[in-house]
Amino acid sequence: MPTTNAPDPARSSAAAPPTPARPAGPSTAAVHAGEAREKLGFSITDPIFASSTYTFSDTQSIIDFIEEDHPREEYGRYGNPGERVVERKLAALEGGEQAVLFSSGMAALVGLLMAHVSAGDEIIFFDECYHRSREFCRKHLTRFGVGFREVKTCDYAAMEAAITPKTKFLVSESPTNPHLSVVDIERFADLGRRRGVLTLIDATLCTPYNLQPLAAGVDFVLHSATKYLGGHNDLLAGTVIGRAELMEPVRNLRGIMGGINSPHNAYLLERGLKTLALRMERHNANGLAVARFLESHPKVERVLYPGLESHPFHDVAARTMRGCGGLVTFFIKDADWRQTANVVDAAKIPRIGPSLGGVESLIEQPLVMSYWNYTPAERQAFRIADNMIRMACGIEDADDLVADLAQALDRA
Ligand SMILES: *Cc1c(COP(=O)(O)O)cnc(C)c1O
Repeated sequence: MPTTNAPDPARSSAAAPPTPARPAGPSTAAVHAGEAREKLGFSITDPIFASSTYTFSDTQSIIDFIEEDHPREEYGRYGNPGERVVERKLAALEGGEQAVLFSSGMAALVGLLMAHVSAGDEIIFFDECYHRSREFCRKHLTRFGVGFREVKTCDYAAMEAAITPKTKFLVSESPTNPHLSVVDIERFADLGRRRGVLTLIDATLCTPYNLQPLAAGVDFVLHSATKYLGGHNDLLAGTVIGRAELMEPVRNLRGIMGGINSPHNAYLLERGLKTLALRMERHNANGLAVARFLESHPKVERVLYPGLESHPFHDVAARTMRGCGGLVTFFIKDADWRQTANVVDAAKIPRIGPSLGGVESLIEQPLVMSYWNYTPAERQAFRIADNMIRMACGIEDADDLVADLAQALDRA
């Protein structure tokens, strides 16, 4: 029996918060959206309900829950209160109706596609999409009779030509990794709408701060929340956001497949999201500063960063994106793979490792980190050069990152 006027614990986090009078800006939404105003125990932060199951006071309350569809929890595989808060925050940040949270970006991709495709359907990808996403379709969905095709990234005519009456999904990432090609989001959405095909953008690299794909008419936005959304290199999570009627089957299938976040993990993501806008401002500024420095350096052959005028997709990025994020790809002049590795090894601030989007900068040589076991012909097909370095700028001081890269480039 509650003895204080604290909100009902069963409802405090599950109940939807009031709708604000005007749409919040990205920083306000990151801090407040999706959260109840009053929380259990008068806490300003959301409590972590470390619970695998949820109890009912009596038989009638179970029947009421089933028949009236009360907003309360039942069993941990179907959701937990903290996860619902994060889902509402993500939906608000993307301007979407519903977000479903998964235990990783790949769990989100698999969950979305499995919920919406059937034997006989086809999926068309732009070919620079995350290789595990394409691998899932090529090696696994095909076993269930789902067709898979790839066309050259940003070749909209080739994508349209590949559409058949069986095509169910058009999929792209934007910007792509590590080439940072930028999709003309309105053109992509329009293609899907005109041809009656669902569109999906993996927006992991741009985040809702830099791009709003749903507003441009895309059906689904997907994120590896492991990257910028979590932002601290301390969790894995993923999400898909879209219209409620399209997300309902995704939520349903997640309850069966079980790729849910633990309450602790959901809280870490909520905490990370609070500073999303602040962090992205710094990632954008650091990415641009590092890219400009590298472009002016005599030992650098070429830099790929959409914020640079020299980038093939600079115009699209300038028209559609608030900033270009922290990922910068560059090529060492006249260097073999070993000399390129020397630059990576000489960097003192960025740690050597895969991933991106955290506060700590990371640096890696794609040839070694991701393509070591590939043949030279395969690497050429993926456009992974021996002298390529990928730097994921964190939120350190740009001057420090630039000075560190300057001394590392002396080793080339
Ligand atoms: C990392 C990443 C994924 C996969 O996400 P996980 O959280 O590692 O499962 C998917 N897409 C992009 C663009 C990524 O960078």
